[in-house]
Amino acid sequence: MSRIWVLGAGQLGQMLKHAGMPLNLDVRPVDIESEETFPLQPHEQVTAEREQWPDTAATRQLAAHPAFVNLETFPILADRFTQKSLIDKLDLATAPWQLVETDTSADALHQKLGERVLLKRRTGGYDGRGQHWLREPGLDAIPDDWHEQAIAEQAIDFDEEMSVVGMRGADGQCFFYPLTLNLHVNGILLGSVAPLARLAHLQAEAEQMLGKLMNDLDYVGVMAMECFRVGDHLLINELAPRVHNSGHWTQAGANISQFEAHLRAVARLPLVQPTVKNTSVMVNLVGTERNDAWLSVPGAELYWYGKEVRPGRKVGHINFCLDNHADTKTALDQLQPLLPVNYVQVLNWLRSQLD
Ligand code: ATP
Ligand code: MG
Ligand code: MG
Repeated sequence: MSRIWVLGAGQLGQMLKHAGMPLNLDVRPVDIESEETFPLQPHEQVTAEREQWPDTAATRQLAAHPAFVNLETFPILADRFTQKSLIDKLDLATAPWQLVETDTSADALHQKLGERVLLKRRTGGYDGRGQHWLREPGLDAIPDDWHEQAIAEQAIDFDEEMSVVGMRGADGQCFFYPLTLNLHVNGILLGSVAPLARLAHLQAEAEQMLGKLMNDLDYVGVMAMECFRVGDHLLINELAPRVHNSGHWTQAGANISQFEAHLRAVARLPLVQPTVKNTSVMVNLVGTERNDAWLSVPGAELYWYGKEVRPGRKVGHINFCLDNHADTKTALDQLQPLLPVNYVQVLNWLRSQLD
């Protein structure tokens, strides 16, 4: 049985482990806070479910392993400065940006980037945390401890947000899932739909962009690219060198999930173009207690992460991949009273994509 170690034991690590079972891959997520040492063998592969980690006995041991796949990519993508620099180097479209240096002023940022400017901390941000808006020229100031620690981005007046999840094998072959349409509320992903026929004309551009990035990095495994659609074009928002929340629908809607695809690449097993079934939807469960009644909704496929429920925390998701859009809408109708009221907006958005 091949063994693959995963740096990180959150839900992504757990879902990699789950995906490894049918292939008899022994996937071992490792808690990044652990001070234990693990029986890592030289022939065993190491991957990660996150792009950054604290310095602990566990992370030191895993990161020092010669078969840590993509080790050089993590620091490049974990820092928004080097990530944006890479996107620029490859001439790929992204929101105009600049580094926030010691002497950078809010006025200078407004002058260069416009009225609305979004500061993003270089490292550690997720789910919209680590962001700060400058909205009013003349009145804004950059918070003290954000100098040297952030980049500034022009606010993009996008039409919608989408992402593409791709995979690359060690032989350089790339495959992609169809574009996923995403709804983020206050910086946090709440719902996804894929595939959608109306987005098919953007697929080639998305694949070309993510393919160029993965090739440049000589990347092996699954990578996600979040984008803004502006008219008929895509601007890259950010990249994640790992399986991604917006790809969770592939557990229901594709013959090879993003988790299996990542494991296949890391384990040097064959990759092929995944077969995609009907349109899938994913509802993210954020800061809400588990409700077993979700399981009574026809077609609902629940993943409950078993984490302590806290406001704003991702604690599970529900996938649907039904025969037709009408059935999916009916299922969402049935789900609605079983979710907090703020989900009405999410379910309305999902239903509207299925019209
Ligand atoms: P994730 O949880 O996806 O890792 P994150 O905290 O790393 O998120 P981003 O993806 O950079 O942050 O931004 C979160 C959300 O904020 C985006 O999905 C988008 O809705 C909004 N946003 C980010 N950058 C911009 C921008 N330049 N203009 C307008 N909105 C933006
Ligand atoms: Mg992010
Ligand atoms: Mg994001």
